Amino acid sequence: MTTAKAQVAVIEGDGIGIDVTRATLAVVEAARGIVGGFDLDLVPISAGASYYAETGADIQPGGEEAAGEADAIFLGAIGLPHIRWPDGTEISPHLRLRDRFGLYAGVRPVKAYANAPKRLADPRAAGIDLVILRESTEGLFYSAAVHKRAEVVGDSAVFETLRISRDVTERLHRFGFRLAEKRKRRGSPGRITCVDKANVFTSMAFFRKIFDEVAAEFADIETGYNYVDAQALELIRRPWEFDILVMENMFGDILSDLAAALVGGMGMASCGEIGDELGLFQPAHGSAPDIAGQDKANPCAAILSGALMLDYLADRTGGEAFATGALLIEEAVARGFEENRLRPMEFGGDMGTEAVTRTIVDLVGERETRARF
Ligand code: ATP
Repeated sequence: MTTAKAQVAVIEGDGIGIDVTRATLAVVEAARGIVGGFDLDLVPISAGASYYAETGADIQPGGEEAAGEADAIFLGAIGLPHIRWPDGTEISPHLRLRDRFGLYAGVRPVKAYANAPKRLADPRAAGIDLVILRESTEGLFYSAAVHKRAEVVGDSAVFETLRISRDVTERLHRFGFRLAEKRKRRGSPGRITCVDKANVFTSMAFFRKIFDEVAAEFADIETGYNYVDAQALELIRRPWEFDILVMENMFGDILSDLAAALVGGMGMASCGEIGDELGLFQPAHGSAPDIAGQDKANPCAAILSGALMLDYLADRTGGEAFATGALLIEEAVARGFEENRLRPMEFGGDMGTEAVTRTIVDLVGERETRARF
């Protein structure tokens, strides 16, 4: 068997980012040991608010270039509320990475795990398994403060720009349809819903028009539409009926947090930000300074992001062993919750970061987990 190889830039970052990154690398290494057939060359890169406090720079010299040379970037979490640039803005080098490498496809899986808290009483909530696909480089965030693009008219008005470009939107929708095909092969319905506000905004009608054009290339994928306000309602009323929801940046920012709450909380929210050349994987939560260094963080979001990364590396390198590693990790987490062996403190359980990590490593190594797929 040939061994597939990939280089991963690792940015632990700040606060719980450090703990959950180490947890993820331990689990990925356990999966590698069981599956074999793939190797990771890990390249540590220092960046974040603590690094800035020590050095005056938010990323090590050459760090961005080194990240760009890797096959993927894994990031824990960046930012600390008390450490900021002199102008008061947050330390966020990862936003530069997102722009620099055009990481337009924000993939946010939302999946219910047995025994993790469910906020909806309906038993069908146990079947929630959807992906929010959030465009991550333009939309209303085109005007985010960091870009300094807002038009400020004295003290009387501020105009922000919502940008929908054909180039990025075509690639986003094509990514969404391909993801729907991939999920369909694994048993999902193969359905993608365009979430917009096409009844009110010209930009959103354009977003939907391009969705329809791309849909014509994918006859096997079912399509649907929802205005974003209706989608918010439907995410509470019948989230189990959705597969992939594609939307602009700001809508995705809001609905992905809402959806994460449906299946527990931020400690389960994994995330990939994928461009044509590179993918960055990180838990959707922040550095959580309130619990940092106390062994309280739930590492599942990071570990599931690690699985997303392996799946991406399979597509990127053609190394199927990466995809098997991803499945093994996902099944270990699912089985751990089903058997009540994973009880993170985030959900009132008795297990800190290390105990959860150790248990997932054990589950990865057990034959019963491998037998599930
Ligand atoms: P950011 O803006 O960087 O996303 P934030 O301050 O909005 O950061 P988080 O750092 O994600 O948000 O923390 C929000 C709350 O969720 C905190 O109370 C934190 O303790 C909790 N939290 C976040 N991630 C986890 C986790 N992995 N395990 C347990 N609790 C978490």
